[in-house]
Order: sequence, then C-alpha cells, then structure tokens
Amino acid sequence: MKNDKYKGFATKAIHSGEEPNLKDGGTGDVVVPIHISSTFARKEIEVPTAGYEYSRSLNPTRKALEEKLAVLENAKYGLAFASGLAAESIIILSLLKSGDHLIAFDDLYGGTKRLFNKVFSDFGITVTYVNATNPNNIITAIKKETKLIWLETPTNPLLKICDIKAISEIAKKNELYLVVDNTFLSPYFQNPLDLGADLVVHSSTKYIGGHSDVIGGSIMLSDSTIYEKLQFNQNAIGAIPSPFDCFLTMRGIKTLEIRMKKHAENAIVLARALEKHPKIKKVIYPGLESHPQFVLSKKQCRGFGGIITFLIDGDINNVKKFMAKLKVFALAESLGGVESLIEHPALMTHASLVQTEREKLGITDNLIRVSVGIEDVSDLWNDLQQALD
Ligand SMILES: *Cc1c(COP(=O)(O)O)cnc(C)c1O
Repeated sequence: MKNDKYKGFATKAIHSGEEPNLKDGGTGDVVVPIHISSTFARKEIEVPTAGYEYSRSLNPTRKALEEKLAVLENAKYGLAFASGLAAESIIILSLLKSGDHLIAFDDLYGGTKRLFNKVFSDFGITVTYVNATNPNNIITAIKKETKLIWLETPTNPLLKICDIKAISEIAKKNELYLVVDNTFLSPYFQNPLDLGADLVVHSSTKYIGGHSDVIGGSIMLSDSTIYEKLQFNQNAIGAIPSPFDCFLTMRGIKTLEIRMKKHAENAIVLARALEKHPKIKKVIYPGLESHPQFVLSKKQCRGFGGIITFLIDGDINNVKKFMAKLKVFALAESLGGVESLIEHPALMTHASLVQTEREKLGITDNLIRVSVGIEDVSDLWNDLQQALD
C-alpha cells in the first residue's frame, strides 16, 4: 500500500495501481494500457527490462490490477487469477500437502465444495464441514492434522454469518491459517484481514468485476512468506488472467463503491417488500432484523450486500411458474453484476451437491436466490410482484 495519499475507498479504487507515468518516456496514460506482449526484450542478458520477462510470471497490466486489489482489502499484496476457483486452488496447493485436514463452513459455494470433495480429496486432503455460525463447532472439529479454516460469510445461498474475529482467535491459538472468501460482500462492505484473517479470496467475476463480462479470481494478504509461496505457484501453475481480463476487472473496480451502495439500497427495499408478501414464506437477508445474525452482521460489516434468498409458499411447479413470469430479472447463475439475476440453487448452482446434503443444509425446492442489480428498484419490485401474483 504505497499510495498513502489516497484515503477514501473510492479514491483508492480509482487511482491505485494506475498512476499516470509522467517521467521521461512515459506517455501519461490515465488508464493502464492492455499490455498484450507475452515476452519482454532485454538490453542485457541478465537484466529483465523493468522486471518483466514473460507474461505468465509478470505482466504490467496484471501488476496494476494486483496493486489495486491489495489496496481494496487493506492488504500488502494482491494476486490475480484466471477465476475464483483457480485462486482457491492456488491457496490449497500453496498451504497444504497430502495428509492435511481443513475445516470449512458447511454452506460454502457449491464449486468450492466440489473442488475440495472431488479434486483435492484425490491428493489426500480431507475436509470437515461445520456450521461455523457457532465457533465452538470449529474447535470441536480441530484434529492434529488440521492446518486451515475456510470460511465464507455471508454464505451461499443461505446467507449465514460467522464471526470472523472470534474464529481468527481460534485459528491463531491453534496455529491454523484462516481463509475468508469475501465474494458476497466485496471489500467495500467487509475486510476480513482487518478482523484477523490471513488470506482473503474473491471471485472477481462477481462484485469486483461487476458487469458479468469477465471471469477472474483474486487473493489479498499481508504476510510476505505466504505471498512468496502463492506468487511462486501463480507462475509455476500458470492460472493467470489475460491482460484484457485484467483491464476489464480494473475498469469494474473503479465503480465498486457506487455499485455496492446501490445494490444494498435496492436489496433492503426488496427484502422488506418480499417479507410482507403473502406468497412468501420466509426472506433471508442479513440487513433484516429477522436475520438470526443481524447484530453480528451490523458489527462485522459496513453493509449487507445485494443478495437475497427467499422461500416461496409453494412447490417446485409454483417456483418454475414464478420464475418464468419474470421480465426484468434474468434466470441465470452467478451474481454481483449490474443486472438483476435470479436462480434456483437446488437445480442450478448447488445441483452438484447430493440431494440429502442439500436438504440437510436447508436448500429446499422452494428456495430462490436473487442477485439484486442496480436498476430502478420500482422496476425490480413490480417485476417480482407481477410474477408472484
Ligand atoms: C462464484 C464464486 C466462486 C468461484 O469463482 P469463479 O470466478 O466462478 O471461479 C467462489 N466463491 C464464491 C462465493 C462465488 O460466488
């Protein structure tokens, strides 16, 4: 974080990593160019020009993005990857080895569970899933092989909240790494490193990119030893984003603050309206007083995000009919873009989980998740209302 002159979040998001080069030979670009060169010529055999050798190892556009990413999470270092799951894989490959055990929140993103259960399981890494809303469940799950705790808060799709600070104390006491997937709130509303986490991971595909036009992942951290390991593996494994992807992600980051404000502003209006609707059985949104961790959420985060989960009073046929009637909300996986999306976790994002596991978690057939966009909230409510009616 060398840019101490930028104080506010929006200022940092706009300027960090993208200072115009006004030195001799600099062209003064206000936006970092898309450096598409895969390799960099050198004057002298042993001296890479400006530190660049080959774009898998380091690329000027990616470097600018990585600086911006670090600043968003109050971190010393940022790393960019080809996807959120690539970033997650690099974390596991860098910190764990065969025989190690990790403890994870039981309501993680389906793809993260698939990665743990179907990929890393083949390499001798084991996982215990616990309901981390009660930190004692984590303590109970610790074994001598345990090396890492993996959290998401709020979770997907049930929006459960766990206490990052309390869990970070457990992690420190037991010498475990604490990783927090901060995709759902974005760095604008929550900064896990400030609450004691060792690493933050994001699917930049979601709020950070924000426009549903680029897949990306990021890791932010402040420990230099872990950073070196991650950077080594970023190059050794090669799961890097293209320079164009880096440009798109940076372009998105510049409006992160105003987008997040609007997502949250629209979400609370819709959550309250849904709560009053006779065809809705239950609404889950961390900003509602009815949310079981509303108090913790208010303490831990600066806002409640743009994701709402609700249960309609009906069966799968009612759900299908309701979703087919929507005109503004698009029926699609993913979240965090400017446009409102709606999805059915049991049949879409969480279809990779077996049914018994889904039911145990509470991902029932009448459960629906919406990613509230930044459109006019009256259009969004009218759309939901006409489809419910
Ligand atoms: C989408 C998502 C991921 C995976 O990221 P990709 O960019 O799709 O690889 C991980 N965690 C959460 C919470 C997500 O929503």
